[in-house]
Amino acid sequence: MNAEIIAIGSELLTPYRQDTNSLYLTERLNQLGVEVIFKTIVGDNREHLTAAANQALSRADLVIFMGGLGPTEDDLTREAVADALGLELRRDPEIIASIERRFASRNLKMTPNNAQQADVIAGAVVLPNAHGTAPGQWISGKYDGREKIILLLPGPPHELKALFDQQCMERLRAKLPQQFIATRELKVAMMGESACDARVAPIYKRYQDVQTTILAGAGEVQLHLKARAASLEAAQQRIDELAEKLEEELGDAVFSDNGDSMEQIVGYYLQMRNATLAVAESCTGGLLAERITSVSGSSRYFVGGAVAYSNELKTAFADVPTDLIAKHGAVSREVAAALAEGIRKRCGATFGLGVTGVAGPTGGTPEKPVGLVFHGLASERGTEVVERSFPGDRKRVRWFASQQALDMVRRKLL
Ligand code: ATP
Ligand code: MG
Repeated sequence: MNAEIIAIGSELLTPYRQDTNSLYLTERLNQLGVEVIFKTIVGDNREHLTAAANQALSRADLVIFMGGLGPTEDDLTREAVADALGLELRRDPEIIASIERRFASRNLKMTPNNAQQADVIAGAVVLPNAHGTAPGQWISGKYDGREKIILLLPGPPHELKALFDQQCMERLRAKLPQQFIATRELKVAMMGESACDARVAPIYKRYQDVQTTILAGAGEVQLHLKARAASLEAAQQRIDELAEKLEEELGDAVFSDNGDSMEQIVGYYLQMRNATLAVAESCTGGLLAERITSVSGSSRYFVGGAVAYSNELKTAFADVPTDLIAKHGAVSREVAAALAEGIRKRCGATFGLGVTGVAGPTGGTPEKPVGLVFHGLASERGTEVVERSFPGDRKRVRWFASQQALDMVRRKLL
């Protein structure tokens, strides 16, 4: 079974409100083995809504409408769906009574416009709404000769969630063949999306029954695997087998196979080795420390460090010799190494990281262009420096730099 979700509300077409309900529903539907094939957002406009309903009914088995069930003039979902289905709306006296009771319990009188919330599409099952006045509706029947399920749900997220979980999940499950979905997420460090895909595509193409999605971020590519089967074990086995082949191909570039972040993985490794880390950050301005300390329990391995932005503080905080900066410039292999070594000694840590670069968009020169970053990692066995040229704006360059620095620690500890 596949589904289309239609979010209704003119506010969802502004820059100020996002349709978050559909994310929730998609997660739930996937748990049932239902794939969402389209998501549509429509404003509070009857004509547009009817058109969207007709289109959804022509292409999806399950169509979920949410929002526009309220008492106001712009709540048009019931009318539009009835139009699209060619069915009548009937006012249900029991719903009116329950809305009246709801108002009375708060010492309020029901205004007449509330009555439209009692309009039910002919043949629909009414789904009581414990958290609001507008009930949901469940319609199942033939549309253009094909079996369809149509759901009308309230827009407010807490109403929608409760109503869907309590009254729709089991009803849907009963309509579906027994099916299980297993998912897995591999994360790959410091590799471009196309470079990664070129290596893994020949492998995942052999697994037609596993849906593989590649998502690219700064310094990280994620491979999302999803398989469905008649048993959870069977689905799990397919993704495990593919994940193993992918990991074999990508080697130690894969840093996580269970969704953990780079900073979590680095934390595990440091803890496992009883090692500690200190950082001296220039162009990342504290981002590295922020990422490391976002992990609960990081005090066990992260001692601290310094944001050494000016040349003076590189010397004051990490003992970078002034003549080194004068000779090579603050953005240099030598200064990155000195930052790492200096902060390691100052903080008494097992490892010291030093990061210096040109985050941009200003400050670049022909010799040291925007995006150039040096990363130093010092330990008792010496210091290594990695030079990288990162693409993108200031935010991306800084993120890339923090990722590269963390990845150096990870690789060191492998
Ligand atoms: P109801 O069906 O209960 O009448 P409605 O659309 O008439 O819903 P609104 O007053 O338009 O109710 O919306 C109620 C709140 O729910 C608003 O804050 C709205 O932004 C939010 N909302 C509606 N749809 C969504 C959605 N798809 N995702 C997230 N929030 C939503
Ligand atoms: Mg609305």
